[in-house]
Amino acid sequence: MGTAPFQEGDHRVTLGRVLVIGLDGAAPGFVEYWAREGALPFLGDLARRGAFGTLRSTVPAYTPTAWTSIVTGVNPGSHGVFGFTRTDASGREAMVDSGTCRSKPVWEILSEQGIPSVVANVPITFPPRPFSGVLVSGMGTPPDSVRFAYPNEVQRLITNEFPGYVPDVAVPDRARASRRAALQILDDIERVTAMRLRLAERLMLTYPWRFGMLVLEAPDRVQHLWWKRIAPDAASSKEGEAVLDVYRRLDERLGRFVEVVESDGSLDVLIVSDHGFQALDWTLSLNNFLADAGLAVLSKGSLAARAARAAPDWMHAVARRVPRLRAIPSLSSRGGFDPDRTIAFTGSVFEQAVYIVPTGDAASYAVRRKSVEDALRALPGPDGRSRAVTRVWRREEIYRGPWTDEAPDLFPVFETSGVMIVPRTSTRRLWEPVHASHGTHHESGLVMAAGPHVAGGRRDGDAQDIAPTVLSLLGLPVPREMDGRPIAGIGPGTVALADVSLSRSDQDEGSGITPAEEEEIAARLQGLGYFE
Ligand SMILES: [Zn+2]
Repeated sequence: MGTAPFQEGDHRVTLGRVLVIGLDGAAPGFVEYWAREGALPFLGDLARRGAFGTLRSTVPAYTPTAWTSIVTGVNPGSHGVFGFTRTDASGREAMVDSGTCRSKPVWEILSEQGIPSVVANVPITFPPRPFSGVLVSGMGTPPDSVRFAYPNEVQRLITNEFPGYVPDVAVPDRARASRRAALQILDDIERVTAMRLRLAERLMLTYPWRFGMLVLEAPDRVQHLWWKRIAPDAASSKEGEAVLDVYRRLDERLGRFVEVVESDGSLDVLIVSDHGFQALDWTLSLNNFLADAGLAVLSKGSLAARAARAAPDWMHAVARRVPRLRAIPSLSSRGGFDPDRTIAFTGSVFEQAVYIVPTGDAASYAVRRKSVEDALRALPGPDGRSRAVTRVWRREEIYRGPWTDEAPDLFPVFETSGVMIVPRTSTRRLWEPVHASHGTHHESGLVMAAGPHVAGGRRDGDAQDIAPTVLSLLGLPVPREMDGRPIAGIGPGTVALADVSLSRSDQDEGSGITPAEEEEIAARLQGLGYFE
């Protein structure tokens, strides 16, 4: 405690550097299986030398929310990123960006101590914010942006030495429509992954750093398309082999990359994922259920009401022409419902949650919430008889912090695995089986660690534990305000706490993303399967 908490203890000189490699969507069971089979020698060796376990994702187990908790060490109620979209001051939905995150990421905390970092391709870091180090932003960066790197000289370096570098791999619509088109995106993924690692290597050899971080999106992209082909018990298929090849090449490249940037024996390496994967078996049109239960009423003439009578293709065609609506993939958000007669609705597919329409007074809110909870508990399962919902979380049960009220109100948990809530009202059916090979996120992500300050063995943690683990590995105390704590066995063992403010002081509430850029980002998310 005191005014200069980071001066407490002087063990930082004895600890070296930390490298965090993010593998978006890497599932612990999958990696463990193929590492044991010998297909992933680098990851297998790392697991044998060090720690291996599951990293519990955030609710929802979605990329922006989970990576933001990983890098800030706090829960979504404290950082304010609940999905790909947020509601801006005027009530419209907009894409989240680096300004949406109200808590300092670990590299900004280190920067205050004069410790430099190299950060590459972490989601929701666009637009880059000044700090001591270099940063290349990742998912959520407008595809044609020429201001995605900090400082400017890094942007110039990328332009000059890495022509064709893209901040995100797009999975175009056609990839979901045809098998051949889908297999073609593997080339893109391969090329982009190779370039990302070359760029990260170039930056880490050029600029000083004690904290390095690189996120690779390849696992997530291919698993969305083909998870059902690559689970260890799946019959072998062209797609399954191709995906395993993506992992094999990734493993080989990571091995070389770590060897090059390691330079001496003082590097601790963490491999983390923001969530795991599972088969996508069912979509649930929850708004239909809410409408049937008398809890939601489509407004006459609203886009959603029109969409309810039209084919999904038509919905998308309209959505593509209306940027703001495209950021609301469901076309069924607030504007689609009659606000005077609607009590609850599901928002975008990013949230997997239910909103209660506020009334302004706490007593009637409580009544509304209770009636929606009761209705959800009675939701029939896909067989029409069983109860589908095992539990309904209230937001204050899963989030803590000043931004909790910005979250959706209720989060249903399902008996059946592989369920995705879709806001569409275009079909009268509640449950639709998903026959395609698609995967969806699972709450169990991956954590692995090896290095001079890592004890081996099974080590499980929480997304919000990674930032404090990094601080602890660097010999720094953990801010008391952080929700996470260093994962046992990764780091020095004794943890010092300090009073350090995590709030960003120069909070910019405005979006750094223009409407045109927003449209481009939304188009990319559609390819990932976040849109129906
Ligand atoms: Zn992800």
